[in-house]
Amino acid sequence: MPPRPEPREARVVRLVLGDQLVHDHPWWRRKETDILYVLMEVRQETDYAHHHIQKVLGFFGAMRRFAEHLRTAGHRVLYLRLDDPRNQQDITLNLRWVLDACRAATFGYMLPDEHRLDQQLKRFATECGAAVEVADTHHFLTHRNELADLFKGKKQYLMERFYRVMRERTGLLMQGGAPLGGKWNFDHANRQRPPKAHVPPPPLLFDHDLRELDALVKQAGVRTLGTADAAHFPWPLDRADSLALLQYFCEHLLHRFGTYQDAMSPHHWAMYHARLSFSLNVKLLSPLEVCEAAVQAHLADPQRIDLAQVEGFVRQIIGWREYMRGVYWAQMPGFAQRNFLGHERPLPVWYWTGRTRMACLREAITGSLANAYAHHIQRLMVTGNFALLAGVHPDEVDAWYLGIYIDAIEWVEITNTRGMSQFADGGIVGTKPYVSSGSYLNKMGHSCAGCHYDVNDRTGPKACPFNALYWHFLARNRERLLSDEARPGMLVRLAMPYRTWDRMPAATRQALLDKGDDLLAHLEAL
Ligand code: FAD
Ligand code: SF4
Repeated sequence: MPPRPEPREARVVRLVLGDQLVHDHPWWRRKETDILYVLMEVRQETDYAHHHIQKVLGFFGAMRRFAEHLRTAGHRVLYLRLDDPRNQQDITLNLRWVLDACRAATFGYMLPDEHRLDQQLKRFATECGAAVEVADTHHFLTHRNELADLFKGKKQYLMERFYRVMRERTGLLMQGGAPLGGKWNFDHANRQRPPKAHVPPPPLLFDHDLRELDALVKQAGVRTLGTADAAHFPWPLDRADSLALLQYFCEHLLHRFGTYQDAMSPHHWAMYHARLSFSLNVKLLSPLEVCEAAVQAHLADPQRIDLAQVEGFVRQIIGWREYMRGVYWAQMPGFAQRNFLGHERPLPVWYWTGRTRMACLREAITGSLANAYAHHIQRLMVTGNFALLAGVHPDEVDAWYLGIYIDAIEWVEITNTRGMSQFADGGIVGTKPYVSSGSYLNKMGHSCAGCHYDVNDRTGPKACPFNALYWHFLARNRERLLSDEARPGMLVRLAMPYRTWDRMPAATRQALLDKGDDLLAHLEAL
């Protein structure tokens, strides 16, 4: 590639990160030739985790489209490709060079959503020698410290309380100051398993040709996992795609979103889920517009799209998503070191290949490797559940989740993984550990029928591993889970399983513990 010219002089240099593709940001309102927007493909970002190839292609593909969109709209843009000889592969080294080359007086950036980038840019801002302007992304409905402020002086966070505040603030599904339908939460009507032969609408897949980008990433030697059909890249890359995906969801999937929210199928990887997390997390869509579109769809056809469906969906976005962000900023950086249960085991190697005889795990993992996606219940109750039962070190679990999913950005990955899924935070995010035996997985999915293991057996050679591991987990962690250091109220929440355990004959308990020990000693062979 021939050497590229130095960028022309600019009064202001503004950085746009890969997850800051905010289509209506106030920055874009003024078109000034002496403002230079900088986007960069850097090894710093491809290499801080072992990413899925679709994640790398998705981020860079969307950034390229966004840079083009800005240029077309009349802005000055410097886009540093991965193979640009001027690219020093590090955000701050590149910024240093651009500021010098442009003789810029001002450096601007939007508040990053990741702690590591926040620190890096704060440091750079103090050292760069230019005036600094820091802008909000205007994406979220809450500011960074809002959750911490809301629960100041309280012993614990409560998602349900936070969610009500958000409903009141946004006015979503509210009528005269009260929740529409008289209730805040319609979960009891949701979470069913569809009949085995049920066929959901197919997921909407796009067809982008990213072969040139794929070749570039490979040529650069970026280490990735999973597979991608780069000639037919299926994820949304720009705002038009993202809006089309939102519309498809509202028309074809929302009417059963809540009903089958927790359902799993070996044949249908997306079920009734929206697959909007990538568009949301890179900020091609705003959380409010997504919720408003869902509410409008409900209001336009309340018979087909009932309140329980849309309430369940809105809760995920203005509730869980905003809540996780609030927990992240309230708890970082210490959150990343939490290991409440003292788990130390390595993640079984088959998490990276899908080569296990456990059908539910094989399907969730091979699906994730093929699609860079798994829906929430697979993440929580299949891969997450097993890692927790097996006592895997939260660092290893985090690294897997951060790499494999196209939507994985630390603020939302780590709070879900280390917090909600692995209980490594002792119950800051969740009210109790999300663990189950095989019977829950059998109730919510159709994998057990085709599994090498027997979901109804607990201790035999072919017993479903989730069964003994579930009781082993509860027994070995009893003291810790019921200690004062865990979230208050655990005694009540875990009363039922511990009562069941205590009522089992001693020989049954011993057999479960022996079986659990054996499974833990042979995790790789499962
Ligand atoms: P839907 O099921 O259709 O939900 C709609 C939207 O609600 C999602 O797009 C998402 O924006 C939001 N949402 C739903 N649940 C959550 C939640 N628990 N936290 C935050 N937002 C939520 N989500 C990510 O965006 N990035 C991650 O890296 C991530 N890692 C996870 C790891 C684990 C262990 C678990 C249990 C969950 C994780 N989630 C993560 C949350 C959730 O699983 C995904 O947001 C969801 O599966 C994305 O698919 P979807 O768009 O089809 O979601
Ligand atoms: Fe999973 Fe157990 Fe069912 Fe097999 S039997 S699919 S391991 S829950």
